Amino acid sequence: MSDIAESLEAVRARIRQACEAAGRDPGDVRLIAAAKTVDAGRVSEAISAGVRDIGENYIQEAKAKIEAIGPARVRWHMIGHVQSNKIKYLPALFDCVHTVDRPDMLDRLERYEKPIDVLFEVNIAGEPSKSGADIAGLGKIMEKARTLRYVRPSGLMTMPPFTADPEDARPFFRRLRETLAEMNKKYGLDMKELSMGMSSDFEIAIEEGATMVRVGTALFGERS
Ligand SMILES: *Cc1c(COP(=O)(O)O)cnc(C)c1O
Repeated sequence: MSDIAESLEAVRARIRQACEAAGRDPGDVRLIAAAKTVDAGRVSEAISAGVRDIGENYIQEAKAKIEAIGPARVRWHMIGHVQSNKIKYLPALFDCVHTVDRPDMLDRLERYEKPIDVLFEVNIAGEPSKSGADIAGLGKIMEKARTLRYVRPSGLMTMPPFTADPEDARPFFRRLRETLAEMNKKYGLDMKELSMGMSSDFEIAIEEGATMVRVGTALFGERS
């Protein structure tokens, strides 16, 4: 087995265990391989090993890899912050964008008249240095989201504050789950996805309801 295939097995085992502990079906948790700085060859290896969802942070890097690997074999997820002048590149490259955090992003995406799933990034701890909408901002985004035809509001995403103990992230994951329920109720939406949890804390995220975990280091090793 390649090292990536072995790492994938280990990550899948961790996902299964967390699901078992939480009484959840492992089929309800999608593994997104966070591939920033990982070259197309290693991403292809991950795909051969069974990865079906790839997350990228930067448009240029993603475009080069998608061209090298081909778009049809896997689902491509944008998980990095997107500047307004780069939004035009998203519909052609990605199946799902996890980092919508302002209403004008929705208008710009809708213009392409191409179905695309979006998740709304929430700055759940209100950290000044982080992107993501606060709760008031999220309300404005929801008002817009429910009027669109092509852009499909699918869920919420967050990155909790970094701490040494993954258990510290639990209240933020829980808060995101509660926020999803609140937004669905208030705006008449049926969003289901919670994109939360990374290499160090995805078990906790799964216990709190994650439907998508974004895992880089545990699959590909430390980034240089
Ligand atoms: C890099 C990255 C991840 C994966 O982080 P690891 O700790 O390497 O698993 C997840 N989400 C986002 C948004 C990232 O940029």
